[in-house]
Amino acid sequence: MLDLQNVFVKYQPGDLPALNDVTFQAERGEFICVLGRSGAGKSTLVRTINGLQRPSSGAVTVSGKNVAMLSSKEQRLLRADIGMIFQHFQLIPRLTARQNIYTGMFGRRPSWKNLAGIFSTADHRRASEAIESVGLAGFEQRRAENLSGGQKQRVGVARALVQNPLMLLGDEPVASLDPTTSNEIFQLLTDLHEQQDWLTIVNVHNIELAKKFASRIIGMKDGKIVFDGSPAEMTEAE
Ligand code: ADP
Ligand code: ADP
Repeated sequence: MLDLQNVFVKYQPGDLPALNDVTFQAERGEFICVLGRSGAGKSTLVRTINGLQRPSSGAVTVSGKNVAMLSSKEQRLLRADIGMIFQHFQLIPRLTARQNIYTGMFGRRPSWKNLAGIFSTADHRRASEAIESVGLAGFEQRRAENLSGGQKQRVGVARALVQNPLMLLGDEPVASLDPTTSNEIFQLLTDLHEQQDWLTIVNVHNIELAKKFASRIIGMKDGKIVFDGSPAEMTEAE
């Protein structure tokens, strides 16, 4: 469902490429952790997959479609198929947890109705289910700005969940959280991954988290893939 072929990304002529000949395929059901130090290219990889960053050369294909060739409507549908979670959560601070979760439903059919905050009974039910499944029951009326970091990321995950995506992409989703909370968020992602049969791709710089939760680890350095295998194979390579 995801195919990258010889992808290069160069931000400036003369710069070293942020992605340097990246090739890999991934399918639903895989839980991939992309490991690498700051500057390795992890964020660029995420943005290249969701179509925010155009490859300088090479091809990114999601569900058989070349991401660089999409019309703006197809772009929007692609974004709706990709749930995103972020290091700094990207919530709207003054909206409640529940209201933030509704913003995940805008992508697929943006209309005056949902922009005006008018959602169907089915939408309300979907939001309630998402709140329940990320463990936020009781906090849904609290403003995002008044939630803890872990709770904020739970809102982020619920916002992705109501999109009903094919793929969940995380750009360092636990980099702002303490170790215990990071572990809880990874456990939540793992549980949802199993229920939803997503393709999950999450950037981390913590090797222990990657080894504990990933089905596959992609190691990056200087824009290149330097490791691609299971956690057990990674342990052998060390
Ligand atoms: P990571 O997420 O692993 O920290 P990034 O993808 O953010 O890595 O960065 C990879 C390289 O690309 C770094 O050298 C970084 O400085 C550079 N880079 C990232 N974003 C930009 C940008 N918008 N403009 C120019 N250079 C960038
Ligand atoms: P963080 O620092 O929290 O990791 P960034 O500020 O690096 O997040 O955000 C990464 C990029 O993703 C930004 O350019 C942002 O505009 C973009 N972005 C925000 N929301 C979405 C979304 N729902 N889908 C795709 N891209 C998004």
